[in-house]
Amino acid sequence: MIENTKFYSLEEIANKLGIAYQSVYKLVRTGELEALRVGRVYRVTDHDLETYFQRQRELVKKEVAAVTCSLCGKSYFSSLSIAGQCKVCGLPLCRNCVELKNAQYCEIHAENQDQKRKS
Ligand SMILES: [Zn+2]
Ligand SMILES: [Zn+2]
Repeated sequence: MIENTKFYSLEEIANKLGIAYQSVYKLVRTGELEALRVGRVYRVTDHDLETYFQRQRELVKKEVAAVTCSLCGKSYFSSLSIAGQCKVCGLPLCRNCVELKNAQYCEIHAENQDQKRKS
């Protein structure tokens, strides 16, 4: 198993990720990126790197899910695009829906409000 494991120096990781060496060092020190200490240098295995990538991907997924407009269903990458929430369930509403459509409810509850108004 050891023979198949690739080791990277922090410099190589920095190159791979396109970030500064100091940033990689910080990831290792904070434990976000697992690393072995061999003498005075750190070594990261390809497995640990993959684990780190996996965690980052999950974080991105969570972020996107957190800012999906509950009325138009559009996904936003920044919570700054969210301008309000459904008055009933509290799901996020995007700036477009709030400012242009004067939205106050998510898709489901907007329908319920329409029905109430009609009857
Ligand atoms: Zn919207
Ligand atoms: Zn709602």
